[in-house]
Order: sequence, then C-alpha cells, then structure tokens
Amino acid sequence: MQVRTRWAPSPTGYAHLGFISRVLINYALAKKNGGQFIWRNEDTDTERTIPGAMAFNMKWTREFGLDWDEGPDDEDLPEDLRKGGPYAPYTQTKRTKAGVYDQAIQTLLDNGSAYRCFCTKERLAELRETQERAKQQTRYDGRCRNLSTEEIKQNLDNKVPFTVRIKIPKDRKIEFDDLITHNHVVWDSNEVDDAIIVKSNGVPTYHLAAMYDDVVMKVTHALRGSEWLASTPIHKILFEGLGIKPEDQAQIGHFTVILDPNTPGKKMSKRNDSFRVDALLQRGYLKEAILNYLMLLGWAPKDNRELFTLEEFVEAFDLNGMQKSNPTWDDKKMDWFNGVYLRKLSLDQFSERFYEWVEKYLLTMLPEEEEAFRKKFESLPVDSLLEFARRLLADKPARLSEQLALVQERAVNLWDVLQQIQFFYDAPQSINWDIKQLDKVREQLSEVRAKVTGFMSSLPEDSKVWTHEAWESGMRAIGDALGVKHGDVFMVLRVAVCGTPFSPPLFESLQILGKEEVLARLNAN
Ligand code: GLU
Repeated sequence: MQVRTRWAPSPTGYAHLGFISRVLINYALAKKNGGQFIWRNEDTDTERTIPGAMAFNMKWTREFGLDWDEGPDDEDLPEDLRKGGPYAPYTQTKRTKAGVYDQAIQTLLDNGSAYRCFCTKERLAELRETQERAKQQTRYDGRCRNLSTEEIKQNLDNKVPFTVRIKIPKDRKIEFDDLITHNHVVWDSNEVDDAIIVKSNGVPTYHLAAMYDDVVMKVTHALRGSEWLASTPIHKILFEGLGIKPEDQAQIGHFTVILDPNTPGKKMSKRNDSFRVDALLQRGYLKEAILNYLMLLGWAPKDNRELFTLEEFVEAFDLNGMQKSNPTWDDKKMDWFNGVYLRKLSLDQFSERFYEWVEKYLLTMLPEEEEAFRKKFESLPVDSLLEFARRLLADKPARLSEQLALVQERAVNLWDVLQQIQFFYDAPQSINWDIKQLDKVREQLSEVRAKVTGFMSSLPEDSKVWTHEAWESGMRAIGDALGVKHGDVFMVLRVAVCGTPFSPPLFESLQILGKEEVLARLNAN
C-alpha cells in the first residue's frame, strides 16, 4: 500500500505549535513508509478565510523543514510555495468551481442518502433557540427529510434556496475504531444530526469536501483534530451513500490536544499568540529544538529516547507510539531542549545561527508581531536591545564570536544571548547598587569600590599582567584587608563593569573589554 497522508488546514487562522506537531506526525508517517504527504487547502468556509493565512502557514511549516509533496498551486500564493500534483487543484474552492463534487452530490441525492433542505435561516434559528431553552441538544428536526417529489419540484421551480443534508438512517449503531487513540466508538444513529453537506451557495462543507477529497486523492491515513471525532458517524454514512468501500476509505485517527499549563485542563488557545508558530523562533528558540519538543508531545518512542533530528524521528516513527492522554505544554522542557541544541553547535555554527536569528526572525517582525513581542518582554529594554541587534548586524564586530563563546554554555535562547552580550558594547548607563547581591558588602560598598578601582588602575595593560591571576590575587587582598568575602568583592567589580549581577564569566569578560574600557566604567560608576 502506498501510504498517503494529508494535512488539510482551513485558512481561517495563523498556525500555532499544535499545527506543526500534527504536520510532523502526518509527515513522518508518510516518509517512514516511502509515501507522500499532501497539503490541501480547505477553504470552503469563505466567510472565515483570512487572506494570506494559508501562505503564512505554509511558509512557517516549511521553515521547520516539513515540506509537502503535493499541494495548492494557486496564483495568489508566493511562487516558491506553489506545488501542484496529480490531483490538482488542491484548494477546495477551486475544486468546487471545477465541479469536482457535483457528481457526488447528485449521487447522494439520487440514492436518497441526502436531501434538499428548504428551511429558512429564521426557522433554523428559532428551532435552535427553542432547543437551547429546553436544554436539548441542538440539531435539525428533519422537517425536509421526507418531502414529496412534488414539493421538491415546486420549491425548485420557485427558486427557494436550499442546502443539502445527509440523511442519517434511524435506529442504527455506527461504529468506528480510532487509528490514534485505538478507541472503539459506537454511536446511536438517532443521536446524529442530519448535517449540512452543501451550503445554499452550492459550496460543499467540510463533511463532504474533505471525505470526498480523501477518497479521490487516495489518502490512506486521515489524522485530524479531536474536534472532528463527533462528526465521524456523519462521515461513515457519507461513505456508505457514495458507495465507498471501507478498504477505499482513509483510516481516520484523532489527535490528542496540547494543554495550556496556564489554563489547566484547557487546550492551547489559538488566540494566544505566544503559541503562534513564529513566536518561539522570534524569541530565539532553534527550530530543531522546537521540533524535537513537539515530536514528544503526543508521541513516545519505545525506549524513552528524547533527542531526535527530523530524519531520526521519521526513522523511529511508529503510529503505535501515539499517546492517548493529552500532553501539557511545558516552558521548562522547551528551554531544556533549546539549551541542548544551543550547546551542540560549534562556535562557528553558534555565531551563524545567532546572526541568522537576528536577521531572519528578530528584525523581520511585522508590526503586530512586534507589539506582541514587546508585551511579552515588557520588563526589558526592548527598544535598546533591538537597536543593538541592528547595530551588530550592520557592524559584524570581530570579537563577537569570543563573546558568544562566553554565553553559549548558559543561555536558554538567543534572545538571552543578545541580552547577555550587550554590555560588551554598551556601558551600563546607570547602575542600581541597591540590589540584594550586594547586601553583604552594603556597609563597605564605597570603600570596596574605591579599592577595586585603585587596584585595577594600578595594573599595567601588558597582556601578561592584565589577567585572571593578577585580578584574583588583587581582589583577595582587598577582601582580606576589609574583612569582605572574595566573592563579594568580585560582585562589586562585576556590577560596576557589567551593570548587572548576572554576567558571563567575569574574568573572560574583562579580558575582552580591555583595561581602558574597564577603567572607564569603574571611574564612571
Ligand atoms: N479543515 C479541517 C480543519 O482545519 C481539517 C480537518 C482534517 O484534517 O480533516 O480542521
């Protein structure tokens, strides 16, 4: 069997991390089996379509290295995102226009598996209200289920607008085995709604368009969001009406949902921009780290291994590893993965990735992205950091890689790196001496500062003397003379030069700064 999977998003929103995690599974399943991964644009809900959303989602999906083998080739997509393929077009409004679904609709109407519903919007709204008031499940009451041929003809002659509904048979059990959760689900057909499969404008809804496309595009596995589980009996009946044998249908599975730790029990909201697909990249997380974390949200290998490249994941992937319970997003775990990947880079790669991040993600934010970004980092001098990033990119300073080497071991993400190296370039403007890290020397603070400054200026700039050993013995002597711990003396030096109690390793930093700059800072502060 040629495995064919598909990812079929609607262009009604911007991709979030959950989106990428699902693409990843579809991609891995296809690639593992030497099959194809298809992207289908399910844009039949035209009122909710957001122009540009599909291109955005494709661009970022590809950014993660997840490319599709067949997909839309619409003219409104940037050229590099157009794909096409043997079942083109892959955009459902285009397929509708080309009449792809007409025959299927006719078949369903002709064999009585579907019917025209002439109920007005007003009647349906009233029906819904009455049911809601009575605390009943809201559903169609079947009024048009059994119209006579005569009534139908009259309505059609009078051009009464109609939708097409699936005719769910009464008194049946509809059974389904979920490919992901392995749950065996049974529905009582009397509880299943006669869903609309074609809207009054002639455009098919998801139910018809997606199921039909899966069949004609020879999709073998349809893995989709858990919100579609409740519609599965409708789809089963649709297949029956179209005479599609089980072996010709895609096997269907429903993904678990990724829970948001900030709202326990709730899934990661599509409206929360900090989960948007580009947000973590902008915040300086490496794509391979993000991908690796996403691989393990909802899937687990047999051997508890944690680190996978995309190729290794494809190799190890097995649908049986899909987990039944909903995973919860964990920022700390994301940080951990990022740390691992940052530290795996050689220094050259690290500099390269740092510049790439500044240029490609940090400084290319759209205004609305930047606004969200600023909100996220409210407590930081974002403006000054962005300006600093621009300067670095323009100047490409020669000593950057030495500075990066000092922070590579400790940074959580590249945004952290940017903050940690800024002091090399920008002397602290004003220093907050009133910090708890200096509490132990509070009484002798000015004395220690004066002595540290005096000692540092007494050292010749000769590279043999302007070193770790000389500073260390000097600071020890000052500490011993004043009865202050050596570490606290160093803290005074650190704060005076770097402006913060958290700096990259102090000695190496002083070496890079050079005597002149260190003294200028000591004297200024
Ligand atoms: N267009 C559907 C959605 O965005 C796709 C569901 C599916 O994968 O079948 O939810």
